[in-house]
Amino acid sequence: MSKLLETEITYLQGVGPKRAKLLEEELGIRTFKDLLFHFPYRYIDRSRFYKVSELTKDLPYIQIKGRFSDFEITTIGKNKKKLSGYFTDNTGIVEIVWFQSINWIKDSVSRSKEYVLFGKPKAFGNRLNIVHPDIEEYDKWQKKLVNALYPQYSTTEKLKNNYINTKSIQKLVDTLFKKLKGQIPESLPPYLRKKYNLQDLESSLLQIHFPTSTQELTKAQYRIKFEELFYIQLNLIQIKLNRQAASKGFVFDKSKDKLVKECFFKKIPFDLTNAQTRVLREIRNDIMSGKQMNRLLQGDVGSGKTLVALLTALIAIDNGFQACIMAPTEILAQQHYRSISKFLDGLDINVQLLTGSTKKKERTKLHESLLSGELSLLIGTHALIEDTVKFKNLGMVVIDEQHRFGVEQRAKLWQKNSLPPHVLIMTATPIPRTLAMTLYGDLDVSVIDELPPGRTPIITKHFKDSDRLRVFGFLKKQIKLGRQAYVVFPLISESENMDYKDLEDGVEGYSRAFPIPEYQISVLHGRMKPDQKEISMSYFEKGDTNIMISTTVIEVGVDVPNATVMIIESAERFGLSQLHQLRGRVGRGSEQSYCLLMTGEKLSENGYNRISTMVNSTDGFEIAETDLKLRGPGDLEGKQQSGFAFDLKMANLSQDGQLIQYVKEIADYILNKDPELKHPDNHILNFTLKELNKGKIHLGEIS
Ligand code: ADP
Ligand code: MG
Repeated sequence: MSKLLETEITYLQGVGPKRAKLLEEELGIRTFKDLLFHFPYRYIDRSRFYKVSELTKDLPYIQIKGRFSDFEITTIGKNKKKLSGYFTDNTGIVEIVWFQSINWIKDSVSRSKEYVLFGKPKAFGNRLNIVHPDIEEYDKWQKKLVNALYPQYSTTEKLKNNYINTKSIQKLVDTLFKKLKGQIPESLPPYLRKKYNLQDLESSLLQIHFPTSTQELTKAQYRIKFEELFYIQLNLIQIKLNRQAASKGFVFDKSKDKLVKECFFKKIPFDLTNAQTRVLREIRNDIMSGKQMNRLLQGDVGSGKTLVALLTALIAIDNGFQACIMAPTEILAQQHYRSISKFLDGLDINVQLLTGSTKKKERTKLHESLLSGELSLLIGTHALIEDTVKFKNLGMVVIDEQHRFGVEQRAKLWQKNSLPPHVLIMTATPIPRTLAMTLYGDLDVSVIDELPPGRTPIITKHFKDSDRLRVFGFLKKQIKLGRQAYVVFPLISESENMDYKDLEDGVEGYSRAFPIPEYQISVLHGRMKPDQKEISMSYFEKGDTNIMISTTVIEVGVDVPNATVMIIESAERFGLSQLHQLRGRVGRGSEQSYCLLMTGEKLSENGYNRISTMVNSTDGFEIAETDLKLRGPGDLEGKQQSGFAFDLKMANLSQDGQLIQYVKEIADYILNKDPELKHPDNHILNFTLKELNKGKIHLGEIS
């Protein structure tokens, strides 16, 4: 992009060093370009007048038209005065309040004239008022009105205190446009703009800051959204094509199947589900193709991903390669190690576990047997990606629960062999399709959309704290039937101490209601040492304890089929996908399972929506879609970890699904014809993409 746009904002008339510093600190505006792309967060329709009788405290900034009937000055506190004006349009009266410029207002506002007020209604006790509105005579207002749509820019307290508000930002943008007129470089080639009916960049930006009509504004916004999403797809598809062209993959041969068959026929006591079979076939196709596999496997909790991982690893091992399975937590790695060892019991294969708490001596031995090739299957945590871990011939990497690993960590595993190993990434957090296309557009995707047979759907119920005795009574009955239960307390990172307190209080409460020796309780939380955790977990797994009380450490992967009750405390404090993950810990055996969501008496609207979504649905993908809608994509788990610094200024991943699909097809088409974007028509694309990858452009910055 042009040097001109990179000019520092201090060089703009009206911005001195102090303002420049504020703009950068508060809004991240450092250059001309930053200001151009600092879009209004909403527009107010100034052609519309509200009736005074329509006003509520929930309205945003609105406009009313009428006359003042009366004024009143009251003294509040020491030396402080307040001016109240009573404003009416014959549908009602609303109090208008000033704390400053009282005398001036009182003298200059006339009771005989009609005024237009622009402000935000607020509740004051049981009345409404509007504090310090914009005020203008109706006659003058009418003459001045050019744009009905009035942009609002986000500002901060600090900016407001320094007199930088929507109006002053608008003025700066205006100055900037005058300076840049005709010099804002276009970032989409003319043929694309023509074909897809897109406005040019400069007039789109102008329209966004100074809209002339809703229709024109929508066109301009569409152009920017299109561009943001289009470049993301273009980038992802190009990465994928480049990788496919550059990196050959190891070819695994079906005729070598040995361990796979032995494990499958002798060790696995059930048939694979259709979905598992289909996914294994997709994986087979990849690894026989000569290309390196990069596949994302999505499957709801309990859908049987571990088995797919194991069989995939065994295929590699049958072909004379090593394999590793990496999990995000120590508990989960141990759990995988145990369940996989069970499946492999008696077969001729060397499996080991490597985690942060593996002792030095064992570790050294393990390193040696990895290098010599004697060790075939390594299961572990992040410890696997340390540089000291070297394989003789790593052919397959399985990463469980992808959202906890970043792109860089993945890349480290890539590099553990001369040719990159095949990679299978598994996630139990269902990702809505549109988001998957954007987060994982460079991967092929498989889905397990079917649970193993014989599962009874989990019953989910919502209880308030006042129902606690009933909940405890229910739990006692379940324990009498020989079942086990999880109780989970929220963990919020800001205050580990407070969480711990919640858990401690909770443990105390449960211990009183479920006393020894009739009941046994295990406790598990992040402050415990790894071996303590393991002991606690294994008691529960063996059925020695009835109740497992924990923070969210059990969120991932724990598999105890006899556990039929999941009680989630302060459930309103959890996000939807987390609630769904937790619920997936039960319902793993054939018995009816229950998920009880405990909340306080009062719930926010959003909290209520989350709880009722859980009560009404067990479909992970449906829940993920709702989650995306309720939370917006901004803080979706896994966003940062995936390595894409999303900086979408206009597009919205939860709302623009169709557009994402559309631009993906366009990007596909272009790159298939011109993979390196060498054609002169595509110069702009090539150039912009390179700039994007330097992290220099604001349009949807990507990895
Ligand atoms: P997740 O996808 O959450 O990792 P797991 O792999 O832990 O699920 O599987 C959940 C449970 O289902 C395990 O106890 C596993 O042994 C069992 N399981 C997996 N596949 C099947 C199948 N095809 N039929 C019956 N049970 C299965
Ligand atoms: Mg799992």
